[in-house]
Amino acid sequence: MTAPLPFDIIVLGAGPAGATCAATAAEAGRRVAVVDEQPQAGGQVWRAPMGGFPGKGDADQASGDALRQRLVTSSATRLLGHRVWSVVRTETGYRVDTLGPDGPTALEAPSLVVATGAHERVVPFPGWTMPGVIGLAAATVLLKSHGVVPGRRLVVAGCGPLLAVVAAGLVKAGAEVAAVVDIAPRSAWLARLPAILGQPRLAARGLSWALAVAKAGVPMLSGHGVRRVEGGAAVARVVVGPVDAEGAPADGPERVFEADGLIVGHGLTTASEVTRLLRAEHRFDRLRGGWIPVIDGAFQTSLAGLYAIGDGAGIRGQAMASLSGEALGWHLAGRRAEAEAARGRMAAATPFSDAMAGLMAERPAQVRAIAPDTVVCRCEDVTRAEIDAAVAAGATQIDQLKHFTRCGMGPCQGRSCADTVQELMAARLGTTREAVGQWTGRPPLRPVPLGEVIGAFSYDDIPIPTPAPL
Ligand SMILES: Cc1cc2nc3c(=O)[nH]c(=O)nc-3n(C[C@H](O)[C@H](O)[C@H](O)COP(=O)(O)OP(=O)(O)OC[C@H]3O[C@@H](n4cnc5c(N)ncnc54)[C@H](O)[C@@H]3O)c2cc1C
Repeated sequence: MTAPLPFDIIVLGAGPAGATCAATAAEAGRRVAVVDEQPQAGGQVWRAPMGGFPGKGDADQASGDALRQRLVTSSATRLLGHRVWSVVRTETGYRVDTLGPDGPTALEAPSLVVATGAHERVVPFPGWTMPGVIGLAAATVLLKSHGVVPGRRLVVAGCGPLLAVVAAGLVKAGAEVAAVVDIAPRSAWLARLPAILGQPRLAARGLSWALAVAKAGVPMLSGHGVRRVEGGAAVARVVVGPVDAEGAPADGPERVFEADGLIVGHGLTTASEVTRLLRAEHRFDRLRGGWIPVIDGAFQTSLAGLYAIGDGAGIRGQAMASLSGEALGWHLAGRRAEAEAARGRMAAATPFSDAMAGLMAERPAQVRAIAPDTVVCRCEDVTRAEIDAAVAAGATQIDQLKHFTRCGMGPCQGRSCADTVQELMAARLGTTREAVGQWTGRPPLRPVPLGEVIGAFSYDDIPIPTPAPL
C-alpha cells in the first residue's frame, strides 16, 4: 500500500469551516493537510470563479479571495482537486485516500476534521426532473463560478435566504425573473426579524437583495409552492399555488408563469457521509438538516480524534462555519483562550443562524403530499408509489428499503433523496425518523475509476486470515 503522508491534522473540506480551521491550526504550528475536490478553496458560499470568468466582484468573492490567500500563506499542505473516496480508522488515527490530478494520494493523522458542508434538498413535484429545472443552491454555483444564467425567463422558488441571493443575482446578470415563490408566509420572516436585525451586516445584505428584486418589478409570492412544471421536453410553464403553514398544498387559485427555467430548492441537508462511514454516533435534528453527527463542546464526535464543524455538523450557515473552524483550529493547537473566544462569538451568532435554518428546515407535510407517480430517487427512477409498496411488502428500515427498491444506490448514493425517502418511509409506517434510521455509509465516498485508485494498493495489503489449525 502507498505509504500515507503523515500529518498532525487532516481537514476534509476547504470551505469557510475547513479552510479557516486548517489555516488557524497551521499558523499556530501544527502540521496540517487540507483536502477538497474543488480546484480552489472557498467551499460553496465563497466559490472561486473558473474558466476565465472574472467573477462578480462582490463581497463573497472578496471573502473567498482573502481566505484563499490566508491558506496559501499558512504552512498548511493544500490538496485541491482531490476527491476523498475512502476514510478508515487506524490504530493511530485516520487514513484518508484521495484521487487527485496526479493520481492517488494517502494521508494519515491522529486527528481528522470533517468539514464537508451540505447537500441541496429539492422536494419532488411533477416535472421536477425536466430539463430546465435546477437547484437553487446549484444556481449560485453557476452564477458565482461561471457567470452563467440558466435560462432567459426564470421562476425562482422554494424557501430560505438563497431565494433572494439567486433572484438578485439573476436580475443583476440581466435575466428576466418571472416570479419569486416562497413557501414561507411573510409572518415566518416577520417572526424572525429580531434575530435577523441582531446581525446588521447580514440583514443589510439581505435587504439589498430583496430591494434589487422589488425594483426590477418581479412578482413575489409568499406562502406559495410549485404545483407542477409543464412542458415535456423542456420547461414551458411553472404552475404555483398556495400552501399551508406546513408547506402542503392549500385551497386557492393556481397561477401560471410562462418560463424556460425553474430554479428551486427547499433547504440543505448535512453532508454526513464521512462520519456515517466511520460509524460515529448521529442524531436526527430537523432544524439542522436531518441526521447530524453527535459532537461535544470541542466539536469531537463519538470517536476519539474525529471532529465535525460547519454545515457538516448541522446546517448553520457561513458565519457559524467560519467561527467553528476558528474555534476548532485554536483548540487543536492547544490555544484554549482563543478557542473559547471564538466559541463566544458563535453563541452571539446563533439566533440569526437558527432563524435562517428554521426557514430552510424540511417541512414534513410538504414531503407527505408528494403524488404517488412522482419520481423521488432520480438516479434509480424510484417513485413514491414504489416506496409505499416496499413498505407494504415489509420494509421497516431504510437500508431494507434500499434493497427492495434500489433507492439511494445510484451515482449520488442518496445525497439528493435521502431526507425525502426517509420522511416518506416514516410517514407510511406511522413512525419516527429515528425508527427508520439512516442509510449506512459505504465507500467509495465519491465515484472514482477503480483502475486509477487501485495503483495505491498491492496484493500484500489484502488481509489473509491465518488458516485454522487442522
Ligand atoms: C451548492 C450549494 C451552494 C450554496 N451557496 C450558498 C450561497 O451562495 N450563499 C450562502 O450563504 N450559502 C450558500 N450555501 C450554504 C453554504 O454551504 C454554507 O453556508 C457554508 O458554505 C458552509 O461552509 P462549510 O465550510 O461548512 O461547507 P462548504 O462551504 O459546503 O464546504 C465543504 C467543502 O467540502 C468539500 N467536500 C465535501 N466532500 C468531499 C469529498 N468527499 N472529497 C473532497 N472534498 C469534499 C466540498 O467540495 C466543499 O468545498 C450553499 C450550499 C450548497 C450545497
